[in-house]
Amino acid sequence: KTFEDLGVIDSLCEACVALGYKHPTPIQSESIPVALQGRDIVGLAETGSGKTAAFALPILQDLLDKQQSFFGLVLAPTRELAYQIEKAFTALGSLINVKCAVLVGGMDMMAQSIALGKKPHIIVATPGRLLDHLENTRGFSLKNLKYLVMDEADRLLDLDFGPILDKILKVLPREGRHTYLFSATMSSKVEQLQRASLHNPIKVSI
Ligand code: AMP
Repeated sequence: KTFEDLGVIDSLCEACVALGYKHPTPIQSESIPVALQGRDIVGLAETGSGKTAAFALPILQDLLDKQQSFFGLVLAPTRELAYQIEKAFTALGSLINVKCAVLVGGMDMMAQSIALGKKPHIIVATPGRLLDHLENTRGFSLKNLKYLVMDEADRLLDLDFGPILDKILKVLPREGRHTYLFSATMSSKVEQLQRASLHNPIKVSI
């Protein structure tokens, strides 16, 4: 199978080839066609499975048509993972000029506010810092968000981000939003988050 077989458009297939992705990984083969149909996804997958491209490619493909700012939000448990995800979006989206911003703790709030003022398409964030910006950065709102990804949801909850996630979910639109939740493990807490945030999801596991 190729990325083209999964329904990925040429400019993104080219970016995959440039990154040395010859064939989709199992999680990509399972998730991408479902995501391109517009369904919500619960993905059971570990780091190293290729899950980042599994959610990034469908979002970028839709972004290409719509060219909207604050289009996708990815929540990650750690700064390191947030930067890795941003790197993947920038690399995969290089041919379509995707603009990303990273909002993580321990970095200058003002520099991040300036980055938000440039109206990025994709935001990758840790939950605490995102909430801080939603509450304190003037003019910043996610009311038109089209994609929410919660990556490593089990770790997000283990780090006690649950209450912050609840607050973030309250200010995100529900209508017309697609949501992907990825986790290495399933637990009752992850299932609860899933029920609170996803609409009729397809479950994908490898
Ligand atoms: P991830 O699980 O998203 O952190 O990805 C793990 C590693 O696999 C990253 O270094 C990716 O660049 C790489 N990768 C993702 N998809 C593919 C693919 N289809 N073929 C080869 N490498 C890939």
